[in-house]
Amino acid sequence: MPKHKTHYEECDILVVGGGMAGTGATFEARHWGRDLKIICVEKANIDRSGAVAQGLYAINCYMGMQWNENQPEDHVRYARNDLMGLVREDLGYDMARHVDSTVHMFDEWGLPMMKNPKTGRYQREGKWQIMIHGESYKPIVAEAAKKSADKIYNRIMITHLLMDEEKENRVGGAVGFNMRTGDYYVFRAKTVIVSAGGASHIFKPRAVGEGMGRTWYAPWSNGSAYALPIAAGAKMTQMENRIVLCRFKDGYGPVGAYFLHLKTYTQNANGENYEKKWYEQTKKLVGEYIDHHPTPTCLRNHAFVQEVMAGGGPIHMVTKEAFQDPHLETVGWENFLGMTVGQAVVWASQNVDPKYQNPELTTSEPYVMGSHATCSGAWVSGPEDISPPEYFWGYNRMTTVQGLFGAGDTVGGSAHKFSSGSFTEGRLAAKAAVKYIQEQKAENIKVSDKQCENFKKIIYKPLENYTVGRNEITGGTVSPSYILPIQGLQRLQKIMDEYVGGISVNYMTNGNLLKKGLELLDWLQEDLENVGAEDYHQLMRAWELKHRALTSQCVTEHTLFREETRWPGYYYRGDHLKLDDENWHCLTISRRDPKTGKFTMEKMPVYHIIDEEKKKEAS
Ligand SMILES: Cc1cc2nc3c(=O)[nH]c(=O)nc-3n(C[C@H](O)[C@H](O)[C@H](O)COP(=O)(O)OP(=O)(O)OC[C@H]3O[C@@H](n4cnc5c(N)ncnc54)[C@H](O)[C@@H]3O)c2cc1C
Repeated sequence: MPKHKTHYEECDILVVGGGMAGTGATFEARHWGRDLKIICVEKANIDRSGAVAQGLYAINCYMGMQWNENQPEDHVRYARNDLMGLVREDLGYDMARHVDSTVHMFDEWGLPMMKNPKTGRYQREGKWQIMIHGESYKPIVAEAAKKSADKIYNRIMITHLLMDEEKENRVGGAVGFNMRTGDYYVFRAKTVIVSAGGASHIFKPRAVGEGMGRTWYAPWSNGSAYALPIAAGAKMTQMENRIVLCRFKDGYGPVGAYFLHLKTYTQNANGENYEKKWYEQTKKLVGEYIDHHPTPTCLRNHAFVQEVMAGGGPIHMVTKEAFQDPHLETVGWENFLGMTVGQAVVWASQNVDPKYQNPELTTSEPYVMGSHATCSGAWVSGPEDISPPEYFWGYNRMTTVQGLFGAGDTVGGSAHKFSSGSFTEGRLAAKAAVKYIQEQKAENIKVSDKQCENFKKIIYKPLENYTVGRNEITGGTVSPSYILPIQGLQRLQKIMDEYVGGISVNYMTNGNLLKKGLELLDWLQEDLENVGAEDYHQLMRAWELKHRALTSQCVTEHTLFREETRWPGYYYRGDHLKLDDENWHCLTISRRDPKTGKFTMEKMPVYHIIDEEKKKEAS
């Protein structure tokens, strides 16, 4: 086995993942902590990493308070409605009241914003979205982080959090390895902000084989945002609330600009408005939620899924009308060029010209994330001025592990943050982390060399598994002693797909399936001790897989716990097909005991903070 050099770093604030939230955290940490040592560690290269790597065509969260377009309260109402009543309103409100200032900084930093020629305001795509020429979005925010950090480490994957050995339940840093050099990195830190993005590829994707990298959510988002806090014993929330997206088929091209700006609409293969057809059926499942405006995203998915199951597919986006207008046609194509070039390539390969042919839509495999129309993630403290006691324990966005903060996809309960809201949440977390240090909450942290050496052995074990076991292979890739990361990944995806409500079962699951799924996931975890990696890239794949597997266990535990179907169209509990507000109008919380690996589940009240005052006044 080659020797792997160990590098030691000490810092005040360690940001894990330099995507939207991580760059926001790094930037803001410097603002409040002028003298602090701030380090950002990124698995890829922060110039082009994370879900925004390729660029975006719209900033999906902007209030426009300066023009009185929307207020933060409006955004809370919107997110609450879309998530079928269950959000952390304190977190959503806190993000919304700060998000405009973030966007104004992007503007100052040179992000090309589209302006409405008549009003001079930012060009609206929809009520919350503003349009940008966003190919350069990620390099621009990366520059702000680079100028703020003491050091940015690219190409280092963080695999574990270090824990303080003096005080229980307090973080002490993180460890990982450089996947180019193979060197081992120990970051001893007073606070850690995890902002490592969501999770794709835990459910079997629609595109398999040679097309398997083609998913809606970034294929490199591997759930570290969840696995790191879960392994450290942090509480998680709403992990059952996975998201399914309705997107253009095969390329997963975005539909937002099409629906909102081009005013295109969907229809079934017979040219009918199928959503209307499913109104009564949906009402029986979810009651008055179907009458809410706008229709919650999951319920629109539900109509799509039902229509396809009833034989009405394929579902099309009607583009032929809008594309007759040359301006809208240009917007339609540019929308892909700035963020999903692959969709244009797919259409070219299938001979689809949306001006003459309505393209097909599909529903994606489920993903786990905390910043889109869904809110899986860590259970964090809210801000002191508005959070009820159960939601507040001292420092904004701190998880239930002392000194461990989260932002962006990492944080649960606060949906519809998107890119700008994730950056904003990174800022909020960093400000609180500085305060935590200033208030001397991070004194005398002890992380022994023994702890670090122990993780080193664990991290490189897949290389050893491979080196020792490869001689037993007589042909092909099947070994009696190890499994390769790709084999483990496909096994994980099959379990999640068939037992936890993926595409091949039309998102359907039930208590018995989930229990069986948990059993199979346990065995998978056992076998992952024997995952083999032939090089450093495969070592990264091995750790990505382990993080995905842990995230999947948590998702499955949550799905089993919530005995209702809260979000039809995202998933169905066949044994509890109806929404049940009487018993389940609450948030779900899990904790995995780091010593035993067992999960415990609890319910937490959902507080409707916005409008409560008005209700009180009225009564
Ligand atoms: C297809 C798609 C389209 C979208 N469209 C829009 C849109 O039009 N408008 C909009 O505003 N928002 C959009 N979003 C949402 C937006 O991209 C996300 O809300 C935002 O990127 C989340 O920020 P984040 O920092 O949590 O995750 P990310 O930005 O994904 O950053 C996570 C970072 O962590 C790194 N990382 C992961 N694991 C590790 C590890 N173990 N160690 C070190 N680093 C690690 C990753 O490489 C990555 O750089 C879209 C998202 C997707 C996927």
